Amino acid sequence: MAKKSRTYERFIEKVKEISYLNQALSMLRWDQETYMPPGTVNDRAKQVALLSGIVHERMTSKAMGRMLAELKKDRSLDEDQAVNVREFARDFKRATALPAALVKELSETESYSLDAWGKARKEMNYKKFEPWLDKTINLKCKVAEHIGYKDQPYDALLEEYEPMMPTKDVEAILTPFRKKLVPLVAKISKAAKEARVDESFLTGDFNVEAQRIFFTEIVKDMGYDFERGRLDVTTHPFTIGEALDVRITTRYNEKDLRPGLFSCIHEAGHGLYEQGTLAKNYHTPMGVAQSLGIHESQSRLWENVVGRGMPFWKYYLPRMQKAFPALCRVPLDLWHKAINMVRPSFIRVEADEVTYNLHILLRFELEREILEGKVKISEVPAVWNERMEKYLGIVPPDDVQGCLQDVHWAFGLVGYFPTYTLGNLLAAQLYDKVQTEMPGVEYGFAKGKFAPLLGWLRQKIHQHGRRYMYLDLCRKVTGSTIDEDHFINYLKKKYGPLFGVQL
Ligand code: ZN
Repeated sequence: MAKKSRTYERFIEKVKEISYLNQALSMLRWDQETYMPPGTVNDRAKQVALLSGIVHERMTSKAMGRMLAELKKDRSLDEDQAVNVREFARDFKRATALPAALVKELSETESYSLDAWGKARKEMNYKKFEPWLDKTINLKCKVAEHIGYKDQPYDALLEEYEPMMPTKDVEAILTPFRKKLVPLVAKISKAAKEARVDESFLTGDFNVEAQRIFFTEIVKDMGYDFERGRLDVTTHPFTIGEALDVRITTRYNEKDLRPGLFSCIHEAGHGLYEQGTLAKNYHTPMGVAQSLGIHESQSRLWENVVGRGMPFWKYYLPRMQKAFPALCRVPLDLWHKAINMVRPSFIRVEADEVTYNLHILLRFELEREILEGKVKISEVPAVWNERMEKYLGIVPPDDVQGCLQDVHWAFGLVGYFPTYTLGNLLAAQLYDKVQTEMPGVEYGFAKGKFAPLLGWLRQKIHQHGRRYMYLDLCRKVTGSTIDEDHFINYLKKKYGPLFGVQL
């Protein structure tokens, strides 16, 4: 037992208060995206701004700075306590680095930029968004200068989503990955096309309430705890909250089961991660998830590796056929093939798991080239289309299906995209480890039993909160650093037999 430090106790009390305030903010945001009456929007903006201001004040207070300085030197802290200090100190550093005027300008730009992005999409006119993208990038460069970086400005931006992960390390992972992936995508999508899979049953009339009931069952089976969470409807599915209140959202399409189904599994994967931290650590950095890359490894593992796998559907297809009798004649192997169809497409969020990462690699490269001045803002659409043709062999007919499709840049999220691919790579590597440590785990999936997998993820990942960074966690759990071959081999093993092609 560590010697009790009075300063640490005071520090943790403050940290928890900040966490409760953030939790309240999360619930206001959740409400805004789900049930809030539209007329409340101005009040809500005031509430959120006021609470955010209070959080910022508390996080960056002189007293907090003094406590952190003292605690960083305190050798009597145990390991978990030291993690809490280390992680909060990182948040403190980022929060105090930016001058108030810059923060204000960023948030104002964000609303105008979002508005311009919406108009540009509506009018299919990139020029409407161009000045705002330019401004956002300039502000992001200023942010990077204030935060500081070792090697390149992108480091400082990426760090917000993937801590302690320099750009050159991500590049060293993703560039060789891209070289292997491009030819593989071409081969798999050619074979998939030639397989002429009947996908007609994927669209039809699927009662939304029946979808809700069926998907809720799946999410429950996965282990998501409805005593500490909810599943609601939004336009863009997300997971929000921590500790005893982790909420997930989805969207239903009455003509197609897939958007609701896979976003439920995906968001439940995120939700399970947050629900899997230890109660004793709630409202401290040890009690929340570490990075977006790790987060995405969890959601993708459930969504793609488990949820698009044959064992999963052995169990769920008969159940789904009961809920949706129109599907009653679809054989298991055809269903499995149809939901795993591979074809190059324009829209990232609709992409299959084989082509998906090329969408990300394009964005990761382009963001850096823009920041480095190698690509001018006016050249973004042309470079985007050129790169789509090079990687996926298709050219978007317009910018709405090209560089205007994602909300991220309009929202000021620069440096965010690579975390999706980092998540996919980690998911494959983790799953290889799962299979060596628990051979036959998939037989359980075929009976609707996911507790062994969830138990493993809880023990190896969820319970650690922010103890490990992405690469540390990967080494700790799998015994080696991140290696794209796990994902490449996963694709070969799955899609070779699926579409009858030698990979
Ligand atoms: Zn996600």
